[in-house]
Amino acid sequence: MFTQAAKLLSVSRDAKTIKGEKVGILTGVLYLAPHTLAGYQVCPSATEGCMAACLYTAGQGRYSNVQTARLNRTRWFFEGRESFMATLVVDILRLVRKAN
Ligand code: SF4
Repeated sequence: MFTQAAKLLSVSRDAKTIKGEKVGILTGVLYLAPHTLAGYQVCPSATEGCMAACLYTAGQGRYSNVQTARLNRTRWFFEGRESFMATLVVDILRLVRKAN
């Protein structure tokens, strides 16, 4: 279900990270699915109001393939913590190298 080849961080792939690069800041974002959408509680302090107004489906999140990737990453975090964290470390080190 989960692959070691997957990249967890979004870098230079969305408006937020590209804006930062214009001022010399490289950013990696780990996009997950909020509250219980993936079957696990990601936002324990979420309210009915914020769940209804959540930006999860804004921007790139309006595309079903993006939502599916976020759901899969979230399930991977809960169901395969060791491989998820190992992959995240690799992604962060790659990002640090790129930033340097
Ligand atoms: S707005 Fe609410 S549901 Fe959305 S990510 Fe934030 S805490 Fe979670």
